[in-house]
Amino acid sequence: MCIFCKIIRKEIPNKTILEDDNFLAFEDINPQAKVHILIIPKTHFDSFNTITPKIMGEMTTFIQKVASITEVSHSGYRLITNIGDNGGQEVKHIHFHLLGGEKLGGIL
Ligand code: 5GP
Ligand code: ZN
Repeated sequence: MCIFCKIIRKEIPNKTILEDDNFLAFEDINPQAKVHILIIPKTHFDSFNTITPKIMGEMTTFIQKVASITEVSHSGYRLITNIGDNGGQEVKHIHFHLLGGEKLGGIL
């Protein structure tokens, strides 16, 4: 079982920001910005390549709530999902990084 599925099952502790029946948002263990949250569906998908439009749509609403709770909605933030080896994906359970709380450096 993947590490994020273990976090969902509470077998590995996490600092939860928001949770509902289908999604979990929790603090990244190695933050790259003042706010660095990981947002995952509770159903395992390896990456963005295989997630369904239905779950992606529901996750949009959930991510918007996380942005609101963490007060980055107005100050701005970045959403990233790494996909596969060239994308730098280390954990093979789809996740969105929400980064903010400060001015972010850019690669694009
Ligand atoms: P990726 O490189 O796959 O896009 O990002 C994986 C992220 O998961 C990294 O930012 C890493 O710090 C985070 N991470 C890995 N293991 C754990 C863990 O056990 N707990 C938490 N909270 N974050 C983790
Ligand atoms: Zn998983």
